[in-house]
Amino acid sequence: MPRHKNSGNNNQRRDFFHKEELKQKGLSEKLVRLRGMKDVIFEENKYWDLVIKKASDLAEVYGFKKIQTPILEPLELYRKSTGESSDIVSKEMYAFVDKNGEKIALRPEITPSLVRAYIENGMLNMPHPVKMYSVGPIFRHEKPQAGRYRQSHQFDMEIFGEASPVADFLLMLIAYNIFSELQIDIELQVNNIGCKQCRGEYIKKLTGYYKERGNRARLCNDCKRRLDKNPLRLLDCKEANCISLKEGAPPIVDFLCEDCKKKFTRVLEYLDEMNIPYNLNLNLVRGLDYYTGTVFEITAKEDPEKNQGGQLSLGGGGRYDTLVEFFGGRPTPTCGLALGIERTVAKIKTSGVPLEKDDKNIIFLAQLGDAARRKAMLLFEELRKSGLKVKQAFTRDSLKDQLEEANALGAKLTLILGQKEMNDKTILIRDMESGNQEVIDYKKVKTEVEKRINAV
Ligand SMILES: [Zn+2]
Ligand SMILES: [Zn+2]
Repeated sequence: MPRHKNSGNNNQRRDFFHKEELKQKGLSEKLVRLRGMKDVIFEENKYWDLVIKKASDLAEVYGFKKIQTPILEPLELYRKSTGESSDIVSKEMYAFVDKNGEKIALRPEITPSLVRAYIENGMLNMPHPVKMYSVGPIFRHEKPQAGRYRQSHQFDMEIFGEASPVADFLLMLIAYNIFSELQIDIELQVNNIGCKQCRGEYIKKLTGYYKERGNRARLCNDCKRRLDKNPLRLLDCKEANCISLKEGAPPIVDFLCEDCKKKFTRVLEYLDEMNIPYNLNLNLVRGLDYYTGTVFEITAKEDPEKNQGGQLSLGGGGRYDTLVEFFGGRPTPTCGLALGIERTVAKIKTSGVPLEKDDKNIIFLAQLGDAARRKAMLLFEELRKSGLKVKQAFTRDSLKDQLEEANALGAKLTLILGQKEMNDKTILIRDMESGNQEVIDYKKVKTEVEKRINAV
């Protein structure tokens, strides 16, 4: 199996600084997070929630239902779908033998699991099309670099049992809506790579072209290998020689059969009618073996001044009309798409999309003394259950510390319960903005707080 080379000095230098840093932090080197993995900490999760909620809400609007499948699957599932010749299966998969000697893999993409689940759960007996979405981690042992992690997350949508090009269009429309509503400027690249009927002829022509004298020798080593296994992939190689060679390659559109041509034209017409901008990209082939017909990719529109070659792909998808049958199911035309959560999050962080604030109308409950603390704990539960946004710092003893925390949280009101208030059966209510304090009857605390919150 080919392996990625370590990029020498840079990594060593990075590792050295990293080790020094760890020594200062006091964490043993052996306990450190794996390379290419990421912790998503506190506030950053608000961006994640925003992306996942936007995508899920839109999926539901268009009639998709949520499905969850295991992260571990039989290795064979990916060999048979993603494909032996794909980089994912040949180089990047986390695959191993478990305690029972079974060959299993951490999923490198979500689609194969959904196809398996569709067949295994007898969904072919449900009313069609069957539309589903799923979100969760995928694992690829890639060279870690900016925006690329070995554990990343995808939002995935599939439409089973729909041959109409409306389905292909619908996926692009939803993706377009997700990104525009997250205020991310995208470019949609569209192509059609032909079906079982017409692709064979094209592959012959394409292979013939690359095997012409002089051409083959100029290909990179990966492409020389792909030429026999998956020649379409030569069209999306990023090596300079291969890029210049593909300019002379025969274009696939010239070989599409009538049915493919008709469906592809329909997809483009829908995009035009709905004013969704797209680029026809005849070199777009996607890296997986199972695609047939329409394929598309969504890239972030880059600031041309900042763009250092290569666009950031936010997602993509297409048709895979033969996969269900290939797995042993009934012939079922299917299409799907996957969006990368990490990259989308990275993009919205720079786009300045406003996050929903949850710090309005916070009521802080402060206490002084152990008896007051116990009573405050009960009051806290009561206020919380009545729907108020109540916060506390029961582990703190000092009132000063608690008021500081109330300020840091942006509390509107602070309730203060001390020994004196306990004796008088009262509680102190403090308006954090004006600093005005008032003693109120303990029994009336809830109605008083609600009155002040609602007066805003
Ligand atoms: Zn065709
Ligand atoms: Zn190449």
